[in-house]
Amino acid sequence: MIYLNGDFLPIEEARVPVLDRGFIFGDGVYEVIPVYSRKPFRLAEHLLRLQHSLDGIRLQNPHSDSEWSDMLEQVIAGNEGDDQYLYLHITRGVARRDHAFPKGAVPTVFIMSNPLLAPPRELLATGVAAITASDNRWLRCDIKAISLLPNVLLRQMAVDAGAMETVLLREGFMTEGAASNIFVVKNGILLAPPKNHLMLPGITYDVVLELAAAEKIPCEVREVSEYEVRTAQELLLTSSTKEIMPITRLDDKPVGDGKPGTMFALLHRLYQSYKQTTMRGAPSIS
Ligand code: PMP
Repeated sequence: MIYLNGDFLPIEEARVPVLDRGFIFGDGVYEVIPVYSRKPFRLAEHLLRLQHSLDGIRLQNPHSDSEWSDMLEQVIAGNEGDDQYLYLHITRGVARRDHAFPKGAVPTVFIMSNPLLAPPRELLATGVAAITASDNRWLRCDIKAISLLPNVLLRQMAVDAGAMETVLLREGFMTEGAASNIFVVKNGILLAPPKNHLMLPGITYDVVLELAAAEKIPCEVREVSEYEVRTAQELLLTSSTKEIMPITRLDDKPVGDGKPGTMFALLHRLYQSYKQTTMRGAPSIS
């Protein structure tokens, strides 16, 4: 069951007009929110990032936070499985094709849910492969825009190379992954690039930095050079659907000793216990 413009209906019955600016221009933004035990994880933070994305494309938020919560709760209830991930998508609506903003168009609002599967244990035990590529996206990567063609092409490069992710490099520094944030471990220190217009401010990225601060894990938020990426002890990727995963091969070379490292093991354990305590304590969304 999905939500589309005021209606809850089976996905097969959902229709959007071809003149929707999402279809024509990719003119919209989205969010992905993990749901554990039927409760959205870090909902307030995701709704705040949604507002940032909407502000970035100058589109008024069509709903208040409490309206979003109600809609999300209904979509969760209408789908099977305790662990799901919600996909929210807002476009500038349907209008005659013209690049400039249409007057009076009503935003299209779509929400769907899919089962959320934890990364397979085998992958966490061996780690995954990644490749590097030049970050050829625009300069507003902080906006979670639905126009994802560069990310699509960059991640397909990884798939074509038999890898899981593409680590993006811009002018000698690492930005993020094609669909994840990337952390580097160097001399036992966790390195994270600072949030700016060149990367998506990841919700999982924030959780990892909060956990690192709480546990007094040595950590530096600063620009991370390509050299540091290529000589890292450990590389980690984070995202709402993949949580934390170790990258153990980069461009067909082992990362560190080629096995998931101690920083990964520690952060993964902290993340799982944080998830459990917050979800146990979290009231059902209201
Ligand atoms: N960067 C990009 C480009 C992404 O697409 C994503 C999410 N898939 C992330 C980072 C991670 O963000 P989050 O932790 O909020 O899922």
